[in-house]
Amino acid sequence: MKKYSVSVNEIHCKACGICIGLCPKEVFGEDYLGKAVVQDTDKCTGCKICELHCPDYCIEVGEVS
Ligand code: SF4
Ligand code: SF4
Repeated sequence: MKKYSVSVNEIHCKACGICIGLCPKEVFGEDYLGKAVVQDTDKCTGCKICELHCPDYCIEVGEVS
């Protein structure tokens, strides 16, 4: 099975929660400010819903191998 990396640019994240709500695999949690944090990369299927919907282009999903 393919593996993916997911990264969030914490500086640009405005804590809108869109990615947290949309990810079908619950990869994201939130920090004390409500910013998205990657919690469980192993569950990521690489669908890129998060990357495509982040209004501030903070998320990058990549294939690891
Ligand atoms: S690519 Fe899909 S499964 Fe992976 S973190 Fe984004 S929304 Fe979730
Ligand atoms: S969608 Fe983008 S701006 Fe909104 S919480 Fe997720 S990473 Fe942050």
